Amino acid sequence: AFSLSQALAWIKAAAQSIDANAAHLSELDAAIGDGDHGANMARGMAAVTKKIDSAPPADLAALFKSVGMTLLSSVGGASGPLYGGFFLELGKQSAGKTELDAAGLAAVLGAGLGDIRRRGKAEPGDKTMVDALIPAIDALAAASDLAQGTAKAAETARAAATATAPMLARKGRASYLGERSIGHQDPGANSVALLFAALAQACA
Ligand code: ADP
Ligand code: MG
Ligand code: MG
Repeated sequence: AFSLSQALAWIKAAAQSIDANAAHLSELDAAIGDGDHGANMARGMAAVTKKIDSAPPADLAALFKSVGMTLLSSVGGASGPLYGGFFLELGKQSAGKTELDAAGLAAVLGAGLGDIRRRGKAEPGDKTMVDALIPAIDALAAASDLAQGTAKAAETARAAATATAPMLARKGRASYLGERSIGHQDPGANSVALLFAALAQACA
C-alpha cells in the first residue's frame, strides 16, 4: 500500500527528476511561454526537499500539506498556485489515513485535480497540465495493484504530455500565441509526466 515512506520516496524522486529535467521543461516553456517552468519547478521542489528534511512530517496529510505550502510560497507563476493547491488538497484528502490502495490514491489525486480545475478553469484539450493529469489518474483508478497502476499511470501521463503538441492553447501564457502554440508540447503536462514517473518509481 501507499504510506508515508512511499510518499516521501515519491516527493524526493520527483524533486530529483525535476532538477535533472529543469532545462528541458524551461525549453518547452520558452517555445510557447516565458521559459521559466523548469526553473520555477526546480526552485519549488528544492525548497520542498529542504523543508521535509528539516521538519520531517509525521503522516501523509502533514507531508502533502507541507509540500503544498512550500510550493505556494516558492514557485510563483501560473503553476505555483495550481501545484500548491493540488498538494494541499492531497493533504486534506489523506487526513487520518495511514495507507492508500490504488483506488484510494487515485481518489486523493482526483480531488487534487479537482482543485486545479476549479482554480484554473482549464477544460480537457486546452493544452495544460490537466491534459496529462486526467488520463494518468484514470489509469490508476482502473488498476487494482499499486505498482502496476502507478506504472500504467506514468506511461499514460508521458503519452498524454506528448499528445498536447497538436493542441491549441486556451489557458495560460501559451494561449496568447493562438495558432502558434500548435506543434509544441505543454510544459506543465511534461512536469506532470515527471511527477507520475517518480510516483511509479516510489511504488515499484
Ligand atoms: P507561467 O506561465 O506563469 O510562467 P509556468 O511556466 O511555471 O507559469 O507554468 C506554465 C504551465 O502552467 C503551463 O504549461 C500549463 O500546463 C499550466 N497552466 C497555465 N495556466 C493554467 C490553467 N489555467 N489551468 C491549468 N494549467 C495551467
Ligand atoms: Mg512560464
Ligand atoms: Mg513565468
